[in-house]
Amino acid sequence: MQTQNQKVHLPILKEKKISLYIKREDLIHPLISGNKYRKLKYNILAAKEKKQNCILTFGGAYSNHIAATAYAGKEQGLRTIGIIRGEELKDKWQNNATLCLAKEHGMHFKFVTREAYRFKETSEFINKLKEEFNDFYVLPEGGSNSLAIQGCEEILTPEDNVFNVITSAVGTGGTIAGIINTSKNNQKVIGFPALKGNFLQEDIRKFATKINWKLQNKYHFGGYGKVSPELIMFINTFKKETNIPLDPIYTSKMVYGLIEMIKEDFFIPGTKILAIHTGGLQGIKGMNAVLKKKNQLEIVE
Ligand SMILES: *Cc1c(COP(=O)(O)O)cnc(C)c1O
Repeated sequence: MQTQNQKVHLPILKEKKISLYIKREDLIHPLISGNKYRKLKYNILAAKEKKQNCILTFGGAYSNHIAATAYAGKEQGLRTIGIIRGEELKDKWQNNATLCLAKEHGMHFKFVTREAYRFKETSEFINKLKEEFNDFYVLPEGGSNSLAIQGCEEILTPEDNVFNVITSAVGTGGTIAGIINTSKNNQKVIGFPALKGNFLQEDIRKFATKINWKLQNKYHFGGYGKVSPELIMFINTFKKETNIPLDPIYTSKMVYGLIEMIKEDFFIPGTKILAIHTGGLQGIKGMNAVLKKKNQLEIVE
């Protein structure tokens, strides 16, 4: 599956002689993150090959991966189980847009305490789950395993060789590892982590076969899921000016950071940049519900 590259027109790009294109992976599906879809592709084939009819995975209440797994499971005729962080959600998941979306697509939830969730990848925990649910195909949190990377290696196509710089938002690092592996040695891949902390470098190295990449750690806005009124304003302005919607968790932080770097002359004039829009738009509803409660500026849908 190949998605289109959309040229972005903004005065700052003209002024700095930078050309910026956005790869619209968000258009793969209106609610399901493009990169999650790609991460699931070969895992679903593997589950079917193993004659597994059930996929079990993990995530928080706003997880794009949880929403995507539920959707793909329904589409492919597989049962899905979501181990959800936060036992308190047991009685109020109905107020959460992401979990409602997953439930609509047939996902069965098991809510666990934050404490138990930390041990979710241990064999002890998995064995207990097997007693409860029989056999299943396990996908890690965020969906990043080697088959997921293989799927993300299909994001870039030979036509993208004309770009000097490729950028992606980073969560677990699986998506960018796939992008790095298909990039050319003369291209530079820059990742924008949506989380605070430097542990990602190692995770990416595990799966990436090249060294033409680096992380820009300045634009996480306080950490995973954190937003500021300035970021929300940026999302709304960017949509008005380019007609491209950005999500509050990942892609807006990347584009915000990228524009800041362009303003600061990080890139030489003539640089051609391709920013990957990984999707995440299903998260807007949930974020708006939180912002509304706090009486803060909301994202225009
Ligand atoms: C999950 C996600 C990412 C991060 O992908 P990783 O492979 O975990 O690094 C980026 N953007 C969006 C929209 C996502 O949903």
